Amino acid sequence: MRLTIRDLSKTYPNGVRALRGVDLTIHTGMFGLLGPNGAGKSSLMRTIATLQEPDSGTIQFGPIDVLRHKTALREVLGYLPQEFGLYPNLSAEHILDHFAVLKGVVDVRERRAQIDVLLEQTNLTNARKKAVGGFSGGMKQRLGIAIALLGRPRLIIVDEPTAGLDPTERHRFLNLLSDIGQDVVVILSTHIVEDVAELCPNFAILAGGEILYTGAPEAGIAGL
Ligand code: ADP
Ligand code: ADP
Repeated sequence: MRLTIRDLSKTYPNGVRALRGVDLTIHTGMFGLLGPNGAGKSSLMRTIATLQEPDSGTIQFGPIDVLRHKTALREVLGYLPQEFGLYPNLSAEHILDHFAVLKGVVDVRERRAQIDVLLEQTNLTNARKKAVGGFSGGMKQRLGIAIALLGRPRLIIVDEPTAGLDPTERHRFLNLLSDIGQDVVVILSTHIVEDVAELCPNFAILAGGEILYTGAPEAGIAGL
């Protein structure tokens, strides 16, 4: 599967031109989208996730014409937004079960199996019955990625996942991402150069709504 973005533009009602003719081709594996605050990263991620409409352009994921077939895209998408709310009184496993149903994992045993694996993978097994209101920032992010991985997505978008994490939690989180699998398209959006350098065989730089550079870190990131 490959994600192809062509000539994507978006101007908000307030006149901000957040995306200006973005062209990107993203293959399976980890891809870094690097850019400063205000570059347009979240706008691009939300557009790919079908949460907002661009003014023009096309997005193709494998056989799916994303802007025409939003439901088809959502069925294969795992999205960890920059900010997400969790009901503080619910337990981690309760929340995962709830989202699994929304993702269409209807079989109870299949849900339980996926949740067990994801809790283990995200190192939250011991906290599964605890209310998430008491979770640390790192635990919440790990639960967020577990939610994103429900339903075995083929396209995974994580938007600024390491912002606000301490170094230990950050490494734990990045290791988790690197384990997701090479046959999936994973887009890591971040303003942190090291996240991309450590994890992404390919990356692009977005600034002012334009792609300034695409390539591999060993070729380009040293000069950033
Ligand atoms: P990044 O994720 O790289 O920080 P954003 O996509 O959030 O960039 O923002 C790009 C630009 O668009 C910024 O100038 C931001 O203020 C503006 N912007 C983002 N969302 C909206 C919105 N809903 N309405 C108006 N302007 C927005
Ligand atoms: P980011 O860090 O990704 O740029 P922000 O914290 O700037 O995100 O934005 C959070 C929310 O506010 C987003 O939903 C974004 O669309 C919206 N937003 C950002 N900038 C503006 C703006 N200038 N006017 C209206 N909404 C905005």
